[in-house]
Amino acid sequence: MKNPMDRQLEKRLSERAVTIGREGEVGAFGELLELLRSSSANARRLSASALGKLAWMGVDQAAAVAALALVARRDPHPQTRQYAIKALKAYGATAQGCLHDLCDMAANPDEKDYIRRDAAAAAAFIEEAVRIAASATEHHCQRCNARVTADEYARSNQTFQRVFCDRCFDEVFLERRNFETQVEINKTIEARDGTVVQSEGERRIADWLTAHGLAYRYDAKFRIIAEFQIRPDFYLPELDVYIEYWGLDTPQYKMSMYKKQTLYQQEGKRLISVYPKDLPGLDRLLAAKLRLYGFSA
Ligand SMILES: [Zn+2]
Repeated sequence: MKNPMDRQLEKRLSERAVTIGREGEVGAFGELLELLRSSSANARRLSASALGKLAWMGVDQAAAVAALALVARRDPHPQTRQYAIKALKAYGATAQGCLHDLCDMAANPDEKDYIRRDAAAAAAFIEEAVRIAASATEHHCQRCNARVTADEYARSNQTFQRVFCDRCFDEVFLERRNFETQVEINKTIEARDGTVVQSEGERRIADWLTAHGLAYRYDAKFRIIAEFQIRPDFYLPELDVYIEYWGLDTPQYKMSMYKKQTLYQQEGKRLISVYPKDLPGLDRLLAAKLRLYGFSA
């Protein structure tokens, strides 16, 4: 880099670098990287400056950062290094790999004041850019490709281990729940009084009601309450009580269960919930709960 260069040539290279930066000649990006390696300190300095100007114009940012980092660290001319440091700052988060070097320069008492000052400023700016880039990572719905919020991302990822917007989340949720319900429906089990129910738990409940002389209606049809499908249930007209058997244990099923239980509550319905774990003590559970609603046996 130190052989004395023809004055004319140096002037021409320097002017070329300035023009590329000023005109935003993205197509001359490769030429600029060449100029950054020229033997003229002035041409290198002006090339570094021009690279900073092209930072957001669609150039190969990683290549620019790699070339500038080398100059910022090693160029024999402090002013050229200073311009490379300033240009690195323009590349923001892409220059993350230079943070260590920049912080070293900023803290090095042997560096010139303007190098320390500009290295500190560049490091602070790049750190901030890295922070913003990390927090603004975009996520898109896997179903409709809409951009999702951080809340939507957390919610769907937790439930389905997939990314959905809230609208698609609700639709997928219903599809899955209906599928689970359908699986249940395909089971046909006959209770003692001939009623066809859908699970062993329901058969136990039906038989208990029959054994205790309690009339019930087993509603196999879906009913829609507040846009929500309610699964077949037991309704005891004498006591105005509903009995639901919550037979599945998947997270999706549980969420729909909580939603339905809330719905019963909001509608002021008397609901007795029976879970698989209740089956061994079903006799005592039903007797005790139904007694609260006027059952005597
Ligand atoms: Zn969506």
